[in-house]
Amino acid sequence: MNTIPFSVSPRVLDLARQAEARCAGQFAQIDQTAEANAWKVLSAFIQHGVSESHFYGSTGYGYGDRGRETLDQVFAQITGSQDALVRHNFVSGTHALTTALFGVLRPGDVLLSLTGSPYDTLEEVIGLRGEGNGSLKDFGVLYRQLDLLADGTPDYDAIPQAVEGVKVAYLQRSRGYSLRPSLSVETIEKVARLVHEANPQAIVMVDNCYGEFVELREPTQAGADLIIGSLIKNPGGGIARTGGYIAGRQDLVELCSYRLTSPGMGKEVGCTLGESRDMFLGLFLAPTVVGAALKTAVFAASLFEQAGYPVYPRFDEPRTDIIQAVRLGEEKRLIAFCQGMQKGAPVDAFVTPEPWDMPGYNSQVIMAAGAFTMGASIELSADAPIREPYAAWMQGGLTYPAGKLGVILAAQSMEEQGILMASSYNG
Ligand SMILES: *Cc1c(COP(=O)(O)O)cnc(C)c1O
Repeated sequence: MNTIPFSVSPRVLDLARQAEARCAGQFAQIDQTAEANAWKVLSAFIQHGVSESHFYGSTGYGYGDRGRETLDQVFAQITGSQDALVRHNFVSGTHALTTALFGVLRPGDVLLSLTGSPYDTLEEVIGLRGEGNGSLKDFGVLYRQLDLLADGTPDYDAIPQAVEGVKVAYLQRSRGYSLRPSLSVETIEKVARLVHEANPQAIVMVDNCYGEFVELREPTQAGADLIIGSLIKNPGGGIARTGGYIAGRQDLVELCSYRLTSPGMGKEVGCTLGESRDMFLGLFLAPTVVGAALKTAVFAASLFEQAGYPVYPRFDEPRTDIIQAVRLGEEKRLIAFCQGMQKGAPVDAFVTPEPWDMPGYNSQVIMAAGAFTMGASIELSADAPIREPYAAWMQGGLTYPAGKLGVILAAQSMEEQGILMASSYNG
């Protein structure tokens, strides 16, 4: 390992060296997947004749924007979809998910989650929280959920009966901010098969956030009808400055496009201003950037496991999203971890994060993030609600050298307070 341009204690350096040495097998696998996905992306660019003319931004209505149309086709090919809607107009992943849900659901329809509670921000969209805000519930869409089993696997036996009469069977691929395992594409394939066998009309919709390019296939290549995600996560490659996507069955993507713009107009409008080039470039880089984020996560798991903490997933477990949870067990460890990670950020390294009362959360939250794009979690970042189990959920890393340094500085920050090793716990 190279000399680190920061003062880091011998114990942390030693831990880092050992931690990294154990990761060689995982890193080789990550590189293999990144290479295959990079070639998959490159072939799609070549086959669709991506050219400089696609980067010029349209204005106004954006009729006939060839860059926009080509990006949709490229993305559809990469994800094995019939069609896609890749737009900077989506303000976030939640907005893309909302567009997809309102795009395909009608009053009286049933939305069934097969992965328990959905991501926090979807609660108000579905109508589990808040009233009169225009949620699906306000429009007469019914919601049901099937919880995951105690070990985090879908309740396969219950699926056939549960999907009877259901319009959308919804899955969240990523663990989100829970300690459950994320779903593999193979698991999604099994669920999609069960759903379609029991109810051929049901739409299998997957919240694909944090999952893109982690495996060799996307859920749409394994039976899902629609996938949705954010461009300031994996598929934006750290370059897209905003946006999201919806991809899958052509008729469904069309319905979603009517919701994004308006019925009758759909995909034919929406100027790209100057965003197309960044979306193309980010997509081109995404497989290797996701690889860097995965290596950062594996290294962090290895290091903090050696320091005595439970980590989810373990460093050598298969991964299907970029999230790494480290269960630190104590508030002061969590704070020291986040403050240390911030010190390695390329942007805002001089800032000291503190716990704050974030709207919508019932406990304080501390976040480490120093990113080129505000809130981009494909860049190294960590979030931690100040409550049991006092876990840091970290993700991202545009490059492995930077991600690795962030993890080392998180450990060093804890070491400086004498609380790096889990055995230093003293109540
Ligand atoms: C990030 C994310 C979302 C959407 O969140 P935004 O912050 O609105 O982009 C939804 N589901 C999961 C699992 C996510 O990770």
